[in-house]
Amino acid sequence: MHDGHGFSTRAIHAGQEPDPLTGAVVPPIYATSTYKQDGVGGLRGGYEYSRSGNPTRTALETCLASIEGGTHGFAFASGLAAEDTILRALLAPGDHVIIPDDAYGGTFRLFDKVATRWGLRYTAAPLTDLAAVTACMCEGTKLVWIETPTNPLLNIADIEQIAELAHRHGALVVVDNTFASPYLQQPLALGADVVVHSTTKYIGGHSDVVGGAVVVRDEELAEKIAFHHNAMGAVAGPFDAFLTLRGIRTLGVRMDRHCDNAEILAEFLSGHAKVAEVRYPGLAGHPGHDVAGKQMKRYGGMISFRHKDGEQAAVDLCARTEVFTLGESLGGVESLIEHPGRMTHASVAGSALEVPADLVRLSVGIEDADDLLADLRQALG
Ligand SMILES: *Cc1c(COP(=O)(O)O)cnc(C)c1O
Repeated sequence: MHDGHGFSTRAIHAGQEPDPLTGAVVPPIYATSTYKQDGVGGLRGGYEYSRSGNPTRTALETCLASIEGGTHGFAFASGLAAEDTILRALLAPGDHVIIPDDAYGGTFRLFDKVATRWGLRYTAAPLTDLAAVTACMCEGTKLVWIETPTNPLLNIADIEQIAELAHRHGALVVVDNTFASPYLQQPLALGADVVVHSTTKYIGGHSDVVGGAVVVRDEELAEKIAFHHNAMGAVAGPFDAFLTLRGIRTLGVRMDRHCDNAEILAEFLSGHAKVAEVRYPGLAGHPGHDVAGKQMKRYGGMISFRHKDGEQAAVDLCARTEVFTLGESLGGVESLIEHPGRMTHASVAGSALEVPADLVRLSVGIEDADDLLADLRQALG
């Protein structure tokens, strides 16, 4: 019904028709596990059990599909639950997968410690280098897993080119679109087969709910995901679905403000004497700037930078901010700061995914830019 509408109209209305019974403008939280049948098999709204389907979750799933330009959306208990379900649904033991060599740590762990025990093989490749990805393609390669921008170095992979390469080899393409959000980047339109999200981040947007999402636009893929969604059971509950949908309605305005603020801070940091390097795709000097400009609407709210005085100075800086809260996660309205080397990425120390020890990561929130600037200025000293 909202197919021809713009992003924010769909975010606010898709799957969210006023409740037919009461006219409630907001889809209610259907806190029920089961549904009365009118005679055996006589389902009133198609619902029989809330693992298989729940109206609050349906509202969220319809909206997710719409804002990603897909036909089918699935809401999960977490981003990792969504990822795990994709693997089981689309791959089999013995298959080979190419993953980014700087994938989100939890994604790397899922492949390295869980999926390999199930017989999956993977190669970690730098997705910024098409020749390197090509070199990793082998007989059993069934899937290329893209993440862009990446965490915490904000590397940019060319979705269109990688999708073309993967499809030539008969492999599917999954894009983890968590960092960009569907407002800034539409992987399905760029050739990806599956989009996955940690809705915990920008989509939920308020740091009050953990969730995941999968969106596809192919009937056969949708059937496989739908079957495993129910059969594996890592579904989003109705309260979580309600909160996530509440967040989605403001995704467009939030993302624009995240981007406005991040652009200002990236410029400021670039000119600061204590900053050695700023990683923000919106800066002309960023290696992925052109590709990001091609496939993203704007450059997002995440910034990483290296402290000129080394690891301890970076760690101390994280403890000195007052508006930026020291903490993991990202994508909420409040600004967060963290030290990847000792926090989010501590588990990859010594591996190929290790990050510079002097790196600081910012999730730039939607507070007043002047307050964020002043806070960084005082913390940098
Ligand atoms: C957080 C995150 C995940 C995992 O999602 P959870 O909701 O924490 O399970 C996956 N990918 C990226 C890029 C993330 O930032």
